[in-house]
Amino acid sequence: MRLAETPCENPRFFAHGIKQMPARIIDGKAIAQQIRDDLAARIAAVREGLGRSPHLAIAIVGDDPASHVYVRNKLRTAEDSGMGVTLETLPGDSTLDETLAVVERFNMSAQIDGILVQSPLPAGMGRNAAQRVFDTIDPGKDVDGFSPISAGHLSQKRSGFAPCTPAGIIEMLDRERLAIEGARAVVIGRSDIVGKPMAMLLMHRNATVTVCHSRTRDLPGVAREADILVAAIGRAGLVTQDFVKPGAVVIDVGMNRVTDADEARQLLASQPKRLKLFERRGSVLVGDVHPNVAETAGALTPVPGGVGPLTIAMLMANTVRAAELRLSG
Ligand code: NAP
Repeated sequence: MRLAETPCENPRFFAHGIKQMPARIIDGKAIAQQIRDDLAARIAAVREGLGRSPHLAIAIVGDDPASHVYVRNKLRTAEDSGMGVTLETLPGDSTLDETLAVVERFNMSAQIDGILVQSPLPAGMGRNAAQRVFDTIDPGKDVDGFSPISAGHLSQKRSGFAPCTPAGIIEMLDRERLAIEGARAVVIGRSDIVGKPMAMLLMHRNATVTVCHSRTRDLPGVAREADILVAAIGRAGLVTQDFVKPGAVVIDVGMNRVTDADEARQLLASQPKRLKLFERRGSVLVGDVHPNVAETAGALTPVPGGVGPLTIAMLMANTVRAAELRLSG
């Protein structure tokens, strides 16, 4: 039996003249849990071999509330998975040198397998601060996959750490048995942490990949070519139905906090519960994909509960792998 299925091979997706079924909503939380469950035996083996659990160290600079929420989620997931954690919190007026000193300390520690410095760094550290930090992280501990060594390894399809968000998306496509090979993939966004590595990973899996950005001409027309459409833009609801070929797999990476009531009403018209949440809290998290794309796509990741949990699960997977590499010498 052939398990993989591309949108173009499933007659449901191209039922011309017949009312399109709503997209299958992919449960990122459940897939993330499967990934973590699959790590349990490997974590136990590391514990036996090294005499300690795989260990993730995170540094955060400043008091950006969203960043602190992300860091708490990562630490809680690591602890729930039976891993060791270290958190170093630096004040917002710390210098780049002070931050690099923390990274160096993490690099030197034989107790630490994976290092993550939460982005964004305070603007006061200068334009190249993040790059300097990524340059300093030991590539053997670069579980975020942002160092130039990791990026080079990925580009050359060599073994190394791939950035967690695109790696999680590939894992999700595989676990959902959505075929990548031969598919037309369009990635909107060309950042170093999502768009570029996403395109690279899809290409390595034999998709035919187009990368779009803010200067792309006829973005909806290019996007409509896609069997697999990845939106990593940072613009709430930018990807509307006219961007989507019927039956396409649509992956929504965007995480945008909407505080404007009209915008929230427009985006959440079909989601009364979430609109109520907005009315209570005054803000809501939405993706780059307009919710009404569910009427056109074959499969769609929700925000929240789609790509976000997968990103954290892959951070755990990369940290376990870093510990295994230490174990194997
Ligand atoms: P980024 O560095 O700001 O990159 C955004 C990309 O989108 C750029 O390449 C930009 O083009 C492109 N873009 C912006 N406006 C556009 C437009 N109107 N039309 C076409 N392309 C446009 O952002 P990022 O770090 O890649 O993150 C993207 C989104 O993903 C954000 O919402 C972020 O919060 C979210 N995110 C989520 C996760 C997760 O775990 N779920 C992880 C990482 C990021 P140019 O290059 O031409 O400027």
